[in-house]
Amino acid sequence: MSFVIPAPKQPVLPIVGTGQTFPIHRIYCVGRNYADHAREMGHDPDREPPFFFQKNPDNVLLDDIFPYPDKSSNVHFEMELIVALKSGGADIPESQAEDHIYGYAVGLDMTRRDLQGEAKKLGRPWEVGKAFDHSAPCSPIRPKGQTGPINEGRIWLNVNGALRQDGNLNQMIWNIPETISYLAGLFTLAAGDLIMTGTPAGVGPVQKGDRLHGGVDGVGEIEIEIG
Ligand code: MN
Repeated sequence: MSFVIPAPKQPVLPIVGTGQTFPIHRIYCVGRNYADHAREMGHDPDREPPFFFQKNPDNVLLDDIFPYPDKSSNVHFEMELIVALKSGGADIPESQAEDHIYGYAVGLDMTRRDLQGEAKKLGRPWEVGKAFDHSAPCSPIRPKGQTGPINEGRIWLNVNGALRQDGNLNQMIWNIPETISYLAGLFTLAAGDLIMTGTPAGVGPVQKGDRLHGGVDGVGEIEIEIG
């Protein structure tokens, strides 16, 4: 097999404590998955069906500088737990969802809120607000073999040393098995998929020079500077 152009580079995440990497297939993101964040965005957090959007695998940023993106003057942070799948399929029952998890990471769903807001108002897709270059700063993955199933634990984010987001994974409206099962009804999931599971309340804008430091207890931490 020969390609007519150079093959795209395979995006990867490192695995904690090893030289090995995890090849990324797709990135699914859950919208408004914490009630207090749904409220702060002006929505009713009643248990409506979950909804999803995607980022591109090559939006992952492993560098510690997040370049402030063009075409926006209102870029928000959203601290999230990331689930990494080692296998997939369609129509996965909740009772089998945990079997597909390779491990967990933490990441930021960086959002051009002004462009996303305009898209919402006009009924247009969210890609310009969500799936731009470097929009997914991520930590290395910690294998589930080390953590066990993660369904609770503190999720937090400091901006310039001040606590801005402070929640618990057990506040998710749709928990991880439910999310995997629901997603698998809409898409055939596969080894290499990442799921960004939503953000707790406290999201806000960043400025150049800000330092963001966040984490999920038992999983890992991430630290970036806005460049
Ligand atoms: Mn998000």
